Amino acid sequence: MPKALIIGGGVAGPAAALFLRRAGWEAEIFEARHRPDAFGGLFLNVATNGLAVLDTLGLKARLLEDGHLSPYMEMHSGRGRKLGTVPNGPAGEPERGSVVVRREWLNAVLREATENAGIPLTWGARLERIEETPDGVTAHFADGSQATGDILIGCDGVGSPTRRWIDPEAPDPAYSGLLSIGGFARVDGLEPTPLTQHMVFGTRGFFGYLVRDDGTVYWFANPARAEMDRDALRAVPGETWLDELRAVHSEDPYPVPQILDNATGAVGAYGIYELPHVPHWHRGRVVAVGDAVHATSPSAGQGASLALEDAETLALCLRDLTAHEQAFARYQQLRQRRAEDVVKYSRAISRQKTATSSKLAVLLRDALLPLFLRGATRDTRNNHLYNHVIRWERSALDA
Ligand SMILES: Cc1cc2nc3c(=O)[nH]c(=O)nc-3n(C[C@H](O)[C@H](O)[C@H](O)COP(=O)(O)OP(=O)(O)OC[C@H]3O[C@@H](n4cnc5c(N)ncnc54)[C@H](O)[C@@H]3O)c2cc1C
Repeated sequence: MPKALIIGGGVAGPAAALFLRRAGWEAEIFEARHRPDAFGGLFLNVATNGLAVLDTLGLKARLLEDGHLSPYMEMHSGRGRKLGTVPNGPAGEPERGSVVVRREWLNAVLREATENAGIPLTWGARLERIEETPDGVTAHFADGSQATGDILIGCDGVGSPTRRWIDPEAPDPAYSGLLSIGGFARVDGLEPTPLTQHMVFGTRGFFGYLVRDDGTVYWFANPARAEMDRDALRAVPGETWLDELRAVHSEDPYPVPQILDNATGAVGAYGIYELPHVPHWHRGRVVAVGDAVHATSPSAGQGASLALEDAETLALCLRDLTAHEQAFARYQQLRQRRAEDVVKYSRAISRQKTATSSKLAVLLRDALLPLFLRGATRDTRNNHLYNHVIRWERSALDA
């Protein structure tokens, strides 16, 4: 059986391993982190299209043990006025809406499935160097260990060393100018609205929240900030971020200030990066998947779903095309345009989140958005985002 070395145990890595196993490949996963992080990455939106991939893997029901259907997004102005509602999934089909879930649950569901399939995962294995020979490829890890396989799949996220190996001239991720800071809260008396995510165009910054059935609030804010690296972001105490956000959102409507005053547990802060166009997704025996080649801002809630789609498509190509170079080329051909379109769309949404200091611009936005959003719950223009289906039973040549 040919063997794939999979670098990264986030979203794409375990999904690729599971699909490859179905395609007749042996797979082994190597993850830089030393252990799972129950709080890491807070929560995320798994869109209808990503759910379809999880369904093909038989994992959707397990995901829903922690995640819940959230088919609407309600927009509010900084003065508390409702501006409109947009579907978070295909328009007019709320039962096929997207799902909000703790990120670690998504990761755990995928990992559990790889364990059940007997796919090995090594923690603390940070890829440092790749070496290709005519017969195979060797991954060298920071602790001095190494592994050899027939191909190497970089599912190593936005900072991907694999992308750099494939093309030393590959673009670096571009910082969007926004942070995503978030966490959990409980606010006495706040009514559960699990079906609806609330998005507030606050007077000085964007804020999102939803209230689960049990009263837990999932919240995030997108303050504009100069770039800070991951270690610098981690070094800032949660209470400092909360104080900063309380100042930014002090004039925003109920329950935004109350959520920030009642945050529970740790606060996570992440820079938002994008990779709008990576020309080369593969070289020789090495290919990259997910954020490594098309990192997107979280505004469209699609990054994880695109990574899942990539994983299935790549495995399909490796199943149906015997030469790995052909399979990799077909995979890039099938995926690049869609991924880049979503990154572009998500970026356009992020731009609307950037706070404006001009009162006139805010007035205009608050006056015009309701007109744009009128009837949005029935507007099918974005259905292509959610209705993308990969048919495992079809040949990669026909897909
Ligand atoms: C704040 C924030 C909110 C988001 N919200 C959403 C959302 O609501 N919906 C959505 O769909 N997407 C969201 N995203 C985007 C989403 O997280 C990514 O698109 C998705 O995780 C990509 O999956 P991936 O497997 O490609 O990368 P990742 O999930 O990042 O996994 C990469 C893995 O590789 C490992 N790794 C990195 N370097 C190495 C190395 N050298 N050696 C070995 N392992 C390595 C990492 O530790 C990590 O586990 C959000 C992103 C951020 C930052």
